[in-house]
Amino acid sequence: EKLRDLLLAHIHDVPDYPKPGVMFKDITPLLADAGAFAALTDALAELCRRYGATKVVGLEARGFILGAPAAVRAGVGFVPVRKAGKLPGATLAQTYELEYGTAEIEIHADALGAGDRVLVIDDVLATGGTAEASLQLIRRAGAEVAGVAVLMELSFLTGRDRLASALGDAPLEAL
Ligand code: 5GP
Repeated sequence: EKLRDLLLAHIHDVPDYPKPGVMFKDITPLLADAGAFAALTDALAELCRRYGATKVVGLEARGFILGAPAAVRAGVGFVPVRKAGKLPGATLAQTYELEYGTAEIEIHADALGAGDRVLVIDDVLATGGTAEASLQLIRRAGAEVAGVAVLMELSFLTGRDRLASALGDAPLEAL
């Protein structure tokens, strides 16, 4: 498929980053290419429309870069999910398991409401822990999950399986 090839051509493999044995998928060449970034933005905006999203939730930090322009293009608002301690207002927090230890993310408690259908956008689905915690936050904020859209799914880490029960009937799209 043409979009897939265009995106893949602009994602670089960086061995042993951030630690030995990890192959990091670097998306900065894609962001730097106007045509590829626009094609990705259009595809994400199309998913917003297809799934009837009223809000995009972007996951810190690369989910902000991909999610914000997609939200603008789709004509919906953008809501950040941030690492703990970064949001100024009243928040809902969710902790989740990492390979070693735990992490915590937050959303503004009043950022979403009962009428909202939310598309979660991030660059990479790895173990699925971050995305799973974000779905819990969205439901706790009173909104409905329209779906999860990522640029890349690292399928060998089986994040799709970890996400399955949190997703329910909502789709997971990997471009
Ligand atoms: P997970 O919670 O699914 O294990 O990890 C997903 C999060 O880690 C995403 O927010 C993503 O940005 C980041 N991440 C994990 N591996 C990679 C990678 O190889 N490349 C990039 N760009 N981000 C990654």
